[in-house]
Amino acid sequence: MDTEVLIVGAGPTGLMLANQLARRGVRAVIIDRHAGPSLQTRALGVQARTLEIYSHLGIVECALELGKRATGANMWAEGRRTARIPIGDIGRDLSPYPFLLILGQDDNERLMGDALRARGQTVRWNTELVGLAQDTSRVKATLKNADGTIGEVTAAWVAGCDGARSAVRELNAIEFAGAPYEHVFFVADTEVTGAMVPDELNVYLWRKGFHLFFPMRGTDHWRVVGILPPHLRGRDDLTFEDVIPSVRQEAGAELSFKACGWYSTYRIHHRCAVRFRDRRCFLLGDAAHIHSPVGAQGMNTGLQDAYNLAWKLALVTSGRANTTLLDSYEVERMPVARRLLITTDRAFALVVSDSWWAGLFRTCVLAKLAAFAMTCDRIRTLAFRTISQIGIRYPDSSLSETLPELPDTAPRAGDRFPWLRLKLQPNGPIEDMFAKLDDAPFNLIVVGQHPPSIQLPALGDLLRIHAVPSDAANDAELARARIPRPSFYLLRPDGHIGLAGAQLDVAAVHRYLAERMVLAAEAARLDVVR
Ligand SMILES: Cc1cc2nc3c(=O)[nH]c(=O)nc-3n(C[C@H](O)[C@H](O)[C@H](O)COP(=O)(O)OP(=O)(O)OC[C@H]3O[C@@H](n4cnc5c(N)ncnc54)[C@H](O)[C@@H]3O)c2cc1C
Repeated sequence: MDTEVLIVGAGPTGLMLANQLARRGVRAVIIDRHAGPSLQTRALGVQARTLEIYSHLGIVECALELGKRATGANMWAEGRRTARIPIGDIGRDLSPYPFLLILGQDDNERLMGDALRARGQTVRWNTELVGLAQDTSRVKATLKNADGTIGEVTAAWVAGCDGARSAVRELNAIEFAGAPYEHVFFVADTEVTGAMVPDELNVYLWRKGFHLFFPMRGTDHWRVVGILPPHLRGRDDLTFEDVIPSVRQEAGAELSFKACGWYSTYRIHHRCAVRFRDRRCFLLGDAAHIHSPVGAQGMNTGLQDAYNLAWKLALVTSGRANTTLLDSYEVERMPVARRLLITTDRAFALVVSDSWWAGLFRTCVLAKLAAFAMTCDRIRTLAFRTISQIGIRYPDSSLSETLPELPDTAPRAGDRFPWLRLKLQPNGPIEDMFAKLDDAPFNLIVVGQHPPSIQLPALGDLLRIHAVPSDAANDAELARARIPRPSFYLLRPDGHIGLAGAQLDVAAVHRYLAERMVLAAEAARLDVVR
């Protein structure tokens, strides 16, 4: 076998997977058909859950330094600012990164590429996947090099992170069900002055669509995204000059464009692969699902696909878990993609609908309604949990088990374990629990009871135990997160709760690891314990 995992595609999804596998000691090769990293940026919004993952990768500080925190969204209609929605720190107490970070996809890819190089691995550019053949033990991939020569790589697993036109998906004849939208988007990287509120998101709603102005690093630097007005659709030769009059008409005549560094139009689709796996091949990111960019979810969802699959591949390739663990990838990630398609479809329909009532709703009602709704704590929290992706849950996964005596109000199996600040030593300092939790092993968090010292399996580097001491500050923090005393939470490496219960039940932990995680060594030890 040449490698354990062949990663096809070095966009954000492939780079995240390569980093996660490298950190976990898995041999992987990452290829891309392009000559080098893309300089054109598509995604702009980095969600809180992505930043949490970046912190484990050691790149969050650089991302925060390079990006801009979205502090507010200013809504404009018919030349007037109709509302300002404060979104800075909207998720306070819910995440160490309670905001949306505006940082271009090219910068995200560069940070992940640098992190990968620091781990001694590089992308094989100019290398295109052109053929695949798999049997029960391996995949043979045919690769075309820049000079036209053809080579072959054998891998135990192939990860298709190769975007919307995925060769991995097509070579496995997996249908990409869905359709294109009729609207055509444009994106332009501009130097422009105007009435926009500096350093904040400016949203121009008009009868037939919208324009978004994203503040970027540098003076008067804005990324403008919008849909082409109907009379410009269908033309292949458009330049940004052609679009400017319609932007001026809707976003204000005083707009003065000084330069346009980059401009592109694109047609978007809403599609989801009917399977995310064919035996030894997986689909992740845009190869598995694409949807409208409304809500800044696409890149972030691909990054989480990679984070979900990486720890499972690491356990399987190291021989510590049975291959059936990999079945949970599709079971967990496909519902997330399907839900995303439905919600982005609805939101997109609302912001682009040509109907009279939708135009009226957009220009006269939407901004005020959104601003009013965001004054309500519960709606703000719900909005943040949904958009930031910290609310993604896997309740129906076979890896999720909540024991009966845990109160219904407590965090359940499948949830991302909440962000807490706790004293982990009696009389010690209050610590950020996420910073304490290593995302390579499983973490067992024991609340309001003594942790087991000797009964738990000697899983070595695979299990860390954290006992939360009794303390007034801890009690308040646990109550805020609705975590009862006593309780215990066994977290998977990706921070989602695998097993949850009240009184720590060592036999249940054994059984869970052996039967649900199908840890091979653990199953053997279970026999001894019995
Ligand atoms: C205008 C626009 C705005 C967007 N805004 C946002 C946003 O704000 N937030 C957000 O989260 N998402 C956003 N998205 C979505 C986001 O850009 C994508 O979801 C993201 O790029 C997906 O990453 P990926 O790595 O899965 O695929 P890609 O970025 O498409 O990368 C795939 C890679 O695979 C390579 N490849 C393809 N075929 C082969 C082959 N046969 N062999 C080898 N290599 C191959 C390609 O060269 C490419 O480098 C936006 C998208 C668009 C179009």
